Amino acid sequence: MDIRDKVERLCARLHDAPQHPTQGAVLFVDLERRETRRKYLPGEVLQTFLGGRGANMYLLYNLLEEERDALDPEIPLIFGAGTLTGDMPSATRGNFTSRSPDSYAILDSSGGDYFPAFVKRHGYDHIVMYGRAPEWTLLRIAHETVEFIDATRYVGLDNLDTAAAVERDFGCTERKDMALARIATSGENLALCSGIMGGIKAIWARGGGGAKMGSLRLKGIMIHGKPDEAPMAKALKEQNKVIGRKITSTSVIKNALKKVGTPFLYKPSRVLGALGTMNNQNTSWHETLDADNFDPYRPGMDGCFKCPVHCRNLNDMTPEGKGGWGSAALKGLTGNASYDKAQAEIEHARQRTYKGINGDGVFDKYDKGDGPEYVTVGKFGPMIGLSEPEHVLRLNNILNDLGLDSASTGSSIAWAMELWQRGIIDASHTGGLDLSWGNYEVIEKLLFMTAKREGFGDTIADSARAVERGKYPTEALDYRMAVKGLFQSDPHDSRILKAFALGLSVATRGMDHLRNRVTLEINARINDDAAFKTELYGGTVSPQPNSYEGKEVAVRRCENTFAVGDAVGMCRFNTKLFNSPTLPDLSDFAAQLSTLTDRPVDATDLDAIGRNIIGLERLLNFRLGLRARDDTLPRRWFEESIEVGPFKGEKIDREQFEAMKSRFYKLTGLNAEGVPNAEWHERLARVATGFAVQVELPRPLPGAPEKMLVIDEPVGNVTALRTALRRRLPDAHAELDDASWNMVVNDRMVLSGESDTLLHDGDRVALVPIIAGG
Ligand code: SF4
Repeated sequence: MDIRDKVERLCARLHDAPQHPTQGAVLFVDLERRETRRKYLPGEVLQTFLGGRGANMYLLYNLLEEERDALDPEIPLIFGAGTLTGDMPSATRGNFTSRSPDSYAILDSSGGDYFPAFVKRHGYDHIVMYGRAPEWTLLRIAHETVEFIDATRYVGLDNLDTAAAVERDFGCTERKDMALARIATSGENLALCSGIMGGIKAIWARGGGGAKMGSLRLKGIMIHGKPDEAPMAKALKEQNKVIGRKITSTSVIKNALKKVGTPFLYKPSRVLGALGTMNNQNTSWHETLDADNFDPYRPGMDGCFKCPVHCRNLNDMTPEGKGGWGSAALKGLTGNASYDKAQAEIEHARQRTYKGINGDGVFDKYDKGDGPEYVTVGKFGPMIGLSEPEHVLRLNNILNDLGLDSASTGSSIAWAMELWQRGIIDASHTGGLDLSWGNYEVIEKLLFMTAKREGFGDTIADSARAVERGKYPTEALDYRMAVKGLFQSDPHDSRILKAFALGLSVATRGMDHLRNRVTLEINARINDDAAFKTELYGGTVSPQPNSYEGKEVAVRRCENTFAVGDAVGMCRFNTKLFNSPTLPDLSDFAAQLSTLTDRPVDATDLDAIGRNIIGLERLLNFRLGLRARDDTLPRRWFEESIEVGPFKGEKIDREQFEAMKSRFYKLTGLNAEGVPNAEWHERLARVATGFAVQVELPRPLPGAPEKMLVIDEPVGNVTALRTALRRRLPDAHAELDDASWNMVVNDRMVLSGESDTLLHDGDRVALVPIIAGG
C-alpha cells in the first residue's frame, strides 16, 4: 500500500482538535508533493503508549510497509517530542523514529538540546515526513506556517557551517529564536553511521538517521521563532521544584556529571577490566584517558533547554582557550573506582601541552568544541588503540562537525582494524591506508573520507552492513561487535556484567545501553543491601554482577522505566535507575502527566505503558523479520574470556544466557519468538491499528510458536486474511499454502467463497486441516 493511502487511512482515525489541553498536533509532511496536514492523536494512544518514542511507534506501526528498504522515501521519518518536553526539569528530549538503514531493526534515536522543546512550543508533538523532495529542502516551521525552502545552497556544508548559514540567511540565532535538526555531508552521502545533528554536538545518533533524512533530500528542519513560554499550573510548578531538587542533590550529578560529564565513567570501567579495547579483543586500557586528564582543556559545561545539570563538557585546545573546569572534581570519590579503592586517590596532573595536531603551533576549528561523552572516549580511545586525550578531543570535534555517530563510526573503524590485524583485509582493500591500531593520522583522514564515501571511507560508511554490501568477506562477521546489525553503543565490555549483557541482547534497536542498562549493577552499596535492591527492581536480583540470577527482573524494570522516560522526554542521565536510585522516577512523571493532561495516571500505569512501548517495538521488529535468535550477543563474548581485572576468566555461558533470556521473555509476556503473546498482542493492536483477528493454527509454525497469530492490519475477507498470514509468517509459506487447511470463522467452516466471507475486528479464525478421502 502506498504511504499516502496509509496516511489517509490513519488520519481517518485521528482527530481535528486537541484531546487534552496541552496536546500538540501531528504534522504530516509530504516532501515530494509539498503538502501538509495536521491531526491529533486519540486519547487512548496517550493512555497506552504516551507521546515521544511511544506515539512515534504507534505512527510507524501504521505507516510502515515492511517490504520496503529503509532508505525508500515511502518509509517515513518521524519526530516526536516527549509529553513533558519543555515542561519538566531535564525533560528536553525527543526521538527520531523510522526503519534503520544500518541495522535490521527499528531506528529510534533520542536527542536533546533545544530542538524538541522548540517543536513542542510551536504547537507540534510529532512531525511525520515522507516522499523524496524534488530538490534539497529546508523545512521551515513557525507555528502554523510550514514552508518548503530550497536548500541547494546548504548542500555540502557540515554541521557548524549549516547552522551558521541558516542563522545568516534568516537573521536568527540557534537556541534563541531558532532550533535546527540538520544533516551534515555524511547524511547527504547516505553514510549508514551518520546521525541527525541538533546542535554543535547534540545528535540523534543511532541507526543511521542522517542517511534516512538524506534519502528524503531533507537538509534540515528549522523551528523558527522564539518559543512561547508555556503557562504552567501551580501544581506542575511545585512538583517541578521537587524534581529539580532531586536531580541537583544527587551525588553523581553534583560531583561528576556537572563537573566533568559522562567521561567520569571511564575510570570505573577501566578498573573493573570491562573496557572494550581493540574491538573487544582486550578489556583494559591506559589511565591517560581518565576524565581528569581532560581537565586542562575543559573551559566549562553546556546544557540542554532549561536543564539544571549542564552535563556537557566543552573543550578548547587553542592558545586562547581556558581549562580547569571540574579540575580534581573526582578526586577521592571511591565509587569512581569501586573495585580498586587505591585507584580513587590517583591524580593526574596533565599539563596543557597541545600545540596543534602537527605540533607546529597551527590550530584549526577542530581544536575546540563540545564533548566528548564517555561513548566517544571509549570508541575513539581504547577501541581503536588511541590513548592521548588531545587525539580524542580532536576526533570528537571532527565527528560532531561531520554528523557522524561516534559509537557506530568508532566500531566500524575498530572492526576494520581487527580485520587488518588478522590479514582478512589488506592495502588492496584500504587503498593503501595502514589500519594499524592507534594510527591517528589515518583515523582522522578516514573520518573525512567516510563522510564523503571516498575510497575506504565508503566501506566505513557502510557501517555494520559492510559484509552484506560486498566490502568484506563473510568471515568478517565473526569479528563484528553488533547485535541486530547495530554496533554496540557504550564502551563497556559486558562479559562480566550479565545484566548489561542481557540488556544489550534484547534491546529493541540493537546493541545499545540506553534502552535498558542496569548501571547500578556495579554499585556496591546497592548490591550489599538485598532488601533495597529487591524494592528497587521489584524482585530478587543477585548481588553478584557476574551472576545470571534475577538479572531479567532488573532489565525488565529498567526497560519499562527508560521507555517511559523517552516517551515523556526525560533525559536518561537524570532518570532513576540509570545513574542513581534517587533521581526522578515514574511517580514524578505520573504527577506531572496527571496535571498536564487532565488524566490521572500513577507509577503502576506508567510501568505498564513502558512495557507496551517495548511490546509494540518488538512487533515492529517481528514485521522486519527479527526473531528470538536475534536477541543474542557477538560470538566473541560467548567464546573468549576476559584476561584481566577482578573478574578475569569471565565470558558468557550460552546455556545460562539462554535460560536468562527465556526468563526475561516469560516475565515480559513474550512468546518463544520474543514477541508479545497473542492476548497482549490483541490488546496492543486494538489501540495501534483498531483491528485484531486471532488466528488459531493447527500446529506451531516458524514465527508462531504458540499456535496462534494476531492479524492486526485491517483485512476485509478471508482471502485477504490468507495474504496477511503469508506476509506475517514468511518462513511458513509451505504450511500456509497447504490446500487441506481450511478456514473456520467464528466456528463456521468456510467451504467456498473465501473472498465473500467478510471479516471484522474481534472475529476468531482457526485454520483446520480437513481429512480427505474415505
Ligand atoms: S543532563 Fe545533560 S544531556 Fe541531559 S538534559 Fe541535562 S544537559 Fe542535556
